[in-house]
Amino acid sequence: MEFIEIAKVCEKVSMTRKRNEKIKIIADFLGKLRPEEVAPSTLLITGKVFSDLEQKPLEVGYVTLIKALNTKKQGTLFQRRLSILDVKKAFEEIASASGKNSRIKKESILKSLLSNASELERKYIIKNIFGEMQHGVGEGLILQAIAYAINANEEEVRKAYMFLGDIGETARVALTGGINAIRNTNLELFRPVKPMLAEMSYNFEEPLREHGGKSAVEIKFDGARVQVHKKGNKIKIYSRRLSDVTESLPDVREEVKNELKAEEAVLDGEVIAIGTEGKPLPFQELMRRFGRIKEVQKKIKEIKLKLYVFDLLYLDGRVLVDETYENRTNKLYDIVGNLSTAPRIIATNVDEIKSFFERAIREGHEGVMAKALRSNYIPGSREKKWFKLKSADTLDLVIVGADWGYGRRTGWLSDYYLAVLNEEKNQFEVVGKTFKGLTDEEFKQMTKRLQELKTRETKHTVFVRPEIVVEVAYSEIQRSPTYSSGYALRFARITRIREDKSAYDIATIKEVKRRYLEQFKYKGKIE
Ligand code: ATP
Repeated sequence: MEFIEIAKVCEKVSMTRKRNEKIKIIADFLGKLRPEEVAPSTLLITGKVFSDLEQKPLEVGYVTLIKALNTKKQGTLFQRRLSILDVKKAFEEIASASGKNSRIKKESILKSLLSNASELERKYIIKNIFGEMQHGVGEGLILQAIAYAINANEEEVRKAYMFLGDIGETARVALTGGINAIRNTNLELFRPVKPMLAEMSYNFEEPLREHGGKSAVEIKFDGARVQVHKKGNKIKIYSRRLSDVTESLPDVREEVKNELKAEEAVLDGEVIAIGTEGKPLPFQELMRRFGRIKEVQKKIKEIKLKLYVFDLLYLDGRVLVDETYENRTNKLYDIVGNLSTAPRIIATNVDEIKSFFERAIREGHEGVMAKALRSNYIPGSREKKWFKLKSADTLDLVIVGADWGYGRRTGWLSDYYLAVLNEEKNQFEVVGKTFKGLTDEEFKQMTKRLQELKTRETKHTVFVRPEIVVEVAYSEIQRSPTYSSGYALRFARITRIREDKSAYDIATIKEVKRRYLEQFKYKGKIE
């Protein structure tokens, strides 16, 4: 099918505000595609280009794009209509252009792509490059459209998506195999699933109340989530974003290989960096190793890592996600050998949780996790089955723009616009600005990275593709008439750069609203 059809669908969905209409338009379109076109089309409609699993950055900067756009349209003699697969292929070539002349290579592929495109097609190619479609179609809506197309229930499709980890692949499975293929989707070795997440709790009573008076309380490590898949001697380690990070963690892989007493297994856990006395080091230290494949051997000597496992999703041919936490962890303890598991207590009263929390903080950890003993493992879900209790209020936000600094910070993009995800509208909305929290070196690096992500600029501000995720501490959330989100963070300060998260893993507007209301439990409400 021709790419113009994707552009037309995007135009059509942006013209209506009715969710049901958007769903029908997309479902109808998906139904007309050839099998090999379904996955790329789904990604192109959402503005993703590549799936999270592929993790291929396009790295097309503003300058490259402008240059390509300014090239005169080539003669029409050899011009042909662009197909969906042509566009996908061109993006693939752009992403894989590397080495010394990569910028020139990228520019030339882009030039030829754009010169074959009509005005409308160009519009959507550019929107894909910048990653913001502004047509109100997020993952949620795509999942509904897939469900509608095959007459399935949305929850079934969402479940399959959490196992597949890729929305394009989910659409392909659904459109080619129908409802049965969706229902039969399950965990498979070497195909990572989205990790189960936790809801924030602001007090020690809530977990016990929700978990029927008994919770397993584990240390919450300040590291990076990993999913380890093993079959015989083959071991792969995946990140929270489901990318393969095995190469950067050969020491962790060796440890699993030597210790794990199972032929086949999928483990869930956290990797942290540790100092000489075994104490946890700041997250930034971990990020010098996690996912970095340059000079691995040298870095292994400099930064020691430690793996803590806390869940078991698969064991010797059996998927365990539908078993209880209690059963899963019992099986885990049987096979871990000398691997470390997350220290935990089974708590039945608030004081036990409180003193375990205090111990966690004293030992340099982030807080604790409280898990329901009878809960199954639901990939990708954030529910009350798991709670996190932390000492500081932070939100993960994405940088969407930055102002040039002045005074000591002249020449640096140093005042950042921070945004949350509006899941309904699939857009990023500003909740605050900050110039606090980064070191001079980090300001310099951030300036460079932001310039590469530039989408437009004014005299004082550079607007960027939403890609860099930061953890932000704040003192209070207020209502805001100025920011598009309707909320503003007071005294926002960046506490870390979260290389392990994508823009779609950040705080949602719903979460900000929940936290805003939560504040009034402790103080009076002033509207
Ligand atoms: P945060 O920003 O607090 O790390 P998150 O959005 O990355 O949160 P959450 O579900 O909110 O994810 O918090 C759970 C995270 O805490 C997990 O993704 C994991 O990386 C980490 N973690 C540390 N220790 C544990 C543990 N014992 N059990 C589960 N998760 C743990």
